Amino acid sequence: MKPSPSQEGTVNISKLDRSNSLCCSYAARRICAGYPGRRDAQIVLENLSAEFVGGKIYVLMGRNGCGKSTLLKVLAGELHPNAGSADFECESGRHSCSIEYLPQDYRQALFPWKTVLENVYPWDNTSDLVEDGFDLNSFKETKIKILSDFGLGAVCNGFPYKLSGGQQQLLLLARSVVSTARVILLDEPFSALDIIWRSLVSEHLRRDWRGRGKVVICVMHEPEEAAVLADEVVFLSGSPMSVAERIHRESESKASVKDFRAEIEKMIQEFAHGEHNDA
Ligand SMILES: [Zn+2]
Repeated sequence: MKPSPSQEGTVNISKLDRSNSLCCSYAARRICAGYPGRRDAQIVLENLSAEFVGGKIYVLMGRNGCGKSTLLKVLAGELHPNAGSADFECESGRHSCSIEYLPQDYRQALFPWKTVLENVYPWDNTSDLVEDGFDLNSFKETKIKILSDFGLGAVCNGFPYKLSGGQQQLLLLARSVVSTARVILLDEPFSALDIIWRSLVSEHLRRDWRGRGKVVICVMHEPEEAAVLADEVVFLSGSPMSVAERIHRESESKASVKDFRAEIEKMIQEFAHGEHNDA
């Protein structure tokens, strides 16, 4: 997407239409992909299929180098598959598939010549904002409020290069709250955040993304952060990579999060001891 001057309007999260939860889904269908230049890992994905529905947060877990980021890049349209497709579906027929992708090197997603405030919504398109229930008259205040929630209220008129890595990541997570994209893809989105911010933003993002019916797919490594954020953890393994296990969180209760975390940790142990090695 070409950068353009941001629009002054506002997002009022509480007024957003929540009826569109679950209406969208995004699916990988028989994806084959790889990096032709790489001798050791030419085929990373072979016939990989997986479906992700709106209003749920999926966390992809698996060993380093297993192909999680490759899958995310294919879903983001950053890497063209050799075969198969990534298909967006909307039951209501209302939205086109637009994707917000936060790469592992999150700095790539910043617009260095725009202020922190402008970086929250650096796009030109206001019709999508209106359709998403944002009030354009108070959009600036909404952006400031979101930046404040993410600890950036005092630096909103500065430029991204002056921020720490953690602050830059928080800025991009703030963007994901305002984003009108139906699909949000994030590769290790909390890597530069301290433990307190991880916990604070997890709750915030979970509430906002789910409330707005987004399809959210996220690569993560820590069982704790996955348990707090995810509805479902998708374990990937093997070479070429496949979906080994999918485990779900039961509810919003603290006990559920605790059980979910224990289950994720158990699964990681099983992978570590080869019980799921399908290579
Ligand atoms: Zn939809």
